[in-house]
Amino acid sequence: MKPGAPQEAVDEVIKLIKDVGYEAHLLQGEIQTVIAAVGDGRDKSRIESMESLKHVEKVVPILKPYKLASRQTMEGDSVINVGGVEIGGKHLVVMAGPCSVEGEEQILEVARAVKEAGANVLRGGAFKPRTSPYSFQGMAEEGLILLAKAREETGLPIVTEVLNPRDLDLVYKYSDIIQVGARNMQNFSLLKEVGRLDKPILLKRGLANTIDEFLMSAEYILAGGNRQVILCERGIRTFETATRNTLDLSCIPVIKERTHLPIISDPSHGTGYWQYVGALSKASVAVGADGLMIEVHNQPEIAFSDGAQSLKPKKFTQLMKELRPVAEAIGRTI
Ligand code: PEP
Ligand code: MN
Repeated sequence: MKPGAPQEAVDEVIKLIKDVGYEAHLLQGEIQTVIAAVGDGRDKSRIESMESLKHVEKVVPILKPYKLASRQTMEGDSVINVGGVEIGGKHLVVMAGPCSVEGEEQILEVARAVKEAGANVLRGGAFKPRTSPYSFQGMAEEGLILLAKAREETGLPIVTEVLNPRDLDLVYKYSDIIQVGARNMQNFSLLKEVGRLDKPILLKRGLANTIDEFLMSAEYILAGGNRQVILCERGIRTFETATRNTLDLSCIPVIKERTHLPIISDPSHGTGYWQYVGALSKASVAVGADGLMIEVHNQPEIAFSDGAQSLKPKKFTQLMKELRPVAEAIGRTI
């Protein structure tokens, strides 16, 4: 729409788009209003001819398969606000906490430590996707209750994973950000479900998925009406065995070029070993990630999951200090 187009003109365009049988998504920018017309390409000329309307500036076909996620659809970057924490802005977000919630003392102790060190979101899994059915599967609702308790005490919003649509109401009730894990990146029915929610979704990249597949999964959530999607690179499978996964740092600038959505990096799952988490955290910030997800445990030796890649609170505190000059060097803060 032309700058300053009146509301009636916007409503009229939305109505015309719907009359053609397309969906109309309103994207309200600071200066300009964009209306995304999403359809299967039929009667495309009727959409294109709307360029002749008085308040329409131009009609731009989006050639990428992902439309709402595309940079072409939105000026600037999407900034997602979670209880006052902005994700995608100048200030980097740090989500830290244990892989799994294991008990009250554990989660409260880690929550206090990461808060003190400067983290702005608490992570912790209550439903765990484990390779073996005999491994610890998470504390389920009990774990969510403990996360909520840690939030109450520290003021940190919480991010936690949902494994299947059946548990979605429960996870929704307790969380501030809902995580869709790597193994579920292409669980399209789950993506459609979280697309209907009004809470931010942290979408992790699948173990063997391309950047375009990753963005198409984000598109599922956006197309459902939920615009609050945070992407997370967490390492992909390669031939390398020295690390658990290969953290694909190059995906960050590529994704920044293609989408307005924020992207954070998870060097814990990305490397699998705490020794490499610091270096890859700094590298992630340097290549433009909007934040980090880092696993922290008070006793990694006896952690129920992912102990080998978890930092102790002291190491995490030290890392936060070391990250500050890196962030500043590229004009950001942490
Ligand atoms: C996690 O965050 O603990 C997790 C299981 O992540 P991913 O889905 O990236 O493996
Ligand atoms: Mn983990």
